[in-house]
Amino acid sequence: MVDLVGQYYKIKDEVDTAIQDVIASAAFINGPAVKAFQSDLEHYLNIKHVIPCGNGTDALQVALMALGLQPGDEVITTTFTFIATAEVIALLKLRPVLVDVCPNTFNIDPHAIEKAITSKTKAIIPVHLFGQCADMDRIMAIADTHNLFVIEDAAQALGATWYAKNGIAKKAGTIGHIGCTSFFPSKNLGCYGDGGAVFTNDDTLAEQLRMIVNHGMKTRYYHDIVGVNSRLDSIQAAILQIKLKYLDTYADARKQAANYYNTAFEGCDKLSTPITADFTDHVFHQYTLVTHQIDREALASYLKRNGIASAIYYPVPLHLQKAYLDPRYKDGDFPIAENLSETVFSLPIHTEMDEATLQYISQTVLSFLNT
Ligand SMILES: *Cc1c(COP(=O)(O)O)cnc(C)c1O
Repeated sequence: MVDLVGQYYKIKDEVDTAIQDVIASAAFINGPAVKAFQSDLEHYLNIKHVIPCGNGTDALQVALMALGLQPGDEVITTTFTFIATAEVIALLKLRPVLVDVCPNTFNIDPHAIEKAITSKTKAIIPVHLFGQCADMDRIMAIADTHNLFVIEDAAQALGATWYAKNGIAKKAGTIGHIGCTSFFPSKNLGCYGDGGAVFTNDDTLAEQLRMIVNHGMKTRYYHDIVGVNSRLDSIQAAILQIKLKYLDTYADARKQAANYYNTAFEGCDKLSTPITADFTDHVFHQYTLVTHQIDREALASYLKRNGIASAIYYPVPLHLQKAYLDPRYKDGDFPIAENLSETVFSLPIHTEMDEATLQYISQTVLSFLNT
């Protein structure tokens, strides 16, 4: 699905030197490389505070911890996402309230959010799924009206730009009260191990977040609140600082690949190509088709026999996952997400795709559909 080796070879000298420098300095934890990357990312995102942490799941967890919620408080999120989003809500003994998505963008439906609000609702976690922003104008308006926090899960959309109705443009993850991202290797900005970060413009939340990721302390060995240990190590930060320079170029490469696929599949009545909402650009963390009346397993194995990877993101919506079964929800409650989980199909998309590869993949998909 991705070509991280090909990507590495293009920046090998820079990356190897940066890694060697960290090793030679032995500043493995909280070294200067972490501060340098943090400051570059703040600049790129145009945000006041970036707080690096151990991974994207931790980012979501510390974001929720910083809000000072009480057990039983409700957090609204989408049922069509990676499990991490709901996992941290459950781990903190908060109540995940799941809602359906919009059929075209696969992102959380603002109307469904509104209907799910109760007196216990404290926060909303929109996920910018597959690389395009959720409808943040409407989500922020709902949050405003009901006095709710918004934590953006931007793990798949780092670098995407959102265009507000008032003409202001912002980067994904800098719109709500706190933004979260992941530097998992295959993400848009991926390191060579685990990594993540939270973003905020709020000084008080930033201070709280910095304490939480560092055992709840400001002064060493004085612990004011319960925290966790969640750090981005210096080697990963040094790699990320280099890759951040290429983040927009990487997004452009994926957009080009998506355009190629869109053209190749135009007019094919068995596939719907991805639709981008008019208030966001799409950085194509995934290229996800909706299939119509086709056997996805047969397509996947046909592609595999021809040396092509594919994936289904996601085969089961959260409300039907075993660990999250809840008497509040049953099969049929979120028809759009349920239908998507039965019909979506993702093709390889990454920074190293040439036209021959794209042609081969799309021709192979079409030759399956036409037999
Ligand atoms: C990858 C991902 C996460 C979790 O990130 P990790 O770094 O793997 O913990 C959270 N949410 C979404 C939507 C993701 O895609």
